[in-house]
Amino acid sequence: MSINPWHTAQEQLENATDRLDLDPLLHARLSQPDRIVEVSLPVTMDDDSVRVFTGFRVQHNNIRGPYKGGLRYHPHVDMNEVKALSFWMTMKNALIDVPFGGGKGGIAVDPKVLSVGELERLTREFTRKLFPVIGPALDVPAPDVNTSGQIMRWIRDEYETLAGKQAPAVVTGKSLDNGGSEGRTEATGLGGSFALAELTRLSGDTLKGKTVAIQGFGNVGSYFAEYAIELGCVVVAVSDSKGTLYKQSGLNDVKAIEKYKKDTKSLDGFPGADYLSAEAVLSLDVDILVPAALENSITIDNVGDIKATIIVEMANGPTTPDADAVLNERGVMVIPDILANSGGVAVSYFEWFQNMNDESWTKEDVFEKLKQKMTSAAQATFASAVENSCSLREAAYLVAIGRLGQK
Ligand code: GLU
Repeated sequence: MSINPWHTAQEQLENATDRLDLDPLLHARLSQPDRIVEVSLPVTMDDDSVRVFTGFRVQHNNIRGPYKGGLRYHPHVDMNEVKALSFWMTMKNALIDVPFGGGKGGIAVDPKVLSVGELERLTREFTRKLFPVIGPALDVPAPDVNTSGQIMRWIRDEYETLAGKQAPAVVTGKSLDNGGSEGRTEATGLGGSFALAELTRLSGDTLKGKTVAIQGFGNVGSYFAEYAIELGCVVVAVSDSKGTLYKQSGLNDVKAIEKYKKDTKSLDGFPGADYLSAEAVLSLDVDILVPAALENSITIDNVGDIKATIIVEMANGPTTPDADAVLNERGVMVIPDILANSGGVAVSYFEWFQNMNDESWTKEDVFEKLKQKMTSAAQATFASAVENSCSLREAAYLVAIGRLGQK
């Protein structure tokens, strides 16, 4: 039976609500998205046939500012997934304390089987359909799974054509030559490493020599691997949807693995490492497990196999509530998604701010500001967990909902 991420999100909200004396109006506002948009996207394919795709944008809440969140291109995208992801964006943006609400969108498509031309036509059609509901002060999309700076470029261009004016801040995650920010590409992975470092420090522990396994070797997983190594961790495994690359003494040259995967489209055969099944990554004997792929990877069926004592949720919604309860009972430190992966949207905010104010910050500046944001969100979460004797996830929700209540 497939697990509905929207039910997971609702359950997380109810858990936090039970601990708070939450104003019924705020509870009602957070329980359902403000607006859901579903659009039909007819596209002429390269062979002149016409295919019709379905696109979604869910604007969950804008109490704290414009709706903000990524666009995902994946065959499994559906309304329940997008609703859950938009809710998590509201929480994430409040927790990392940027003046944005939460939104999310996507298209049910496998972009890997489309030509560049088909992808561009699909993206421009999506932008035309979303035009009435997006804008720099209204709703600001960004990259997510399988979307990139190139896709943001097409959206910006199409939006500006329709608006008849420059509007670089209509999307973030743009490439540098198109109004993007220094450090946005690294931001999610780097931010996760800052959160991990601070929470380890606050728990009186050290990262030196800790072994790490990472599920998902896209932009987020690969940068997280690099920064975890810089912090003194030993990354023994990285996986993609087809298999797991494993080396007990450490996969030290992450850039070489990235190049190998780009050239061969697989991790299989990378010199000096073993190749295991995709699922094997979850049950390895490591200190830190990093789900950095999609939702529902840690479930009640596999939670018993997990040996790690720290989990860093770099994906959105990787742990189902029943599996989460088991991890809590076992005393595993789960750094929740809305904290662990919030570095991406934090630097999206920096990008939006630079665009709105015609500024251009250096990478050092961006990284320093990101470190401050991640460290203070980690500290607020930790303090709330101690004060309320609860998990870091519940604590993160308490901090986020508390901020939403102040508006
Ligand atoms: N897609 C990313 C996330 O899930 C980034 C969103 C953004 O930068 O707006 O947080």
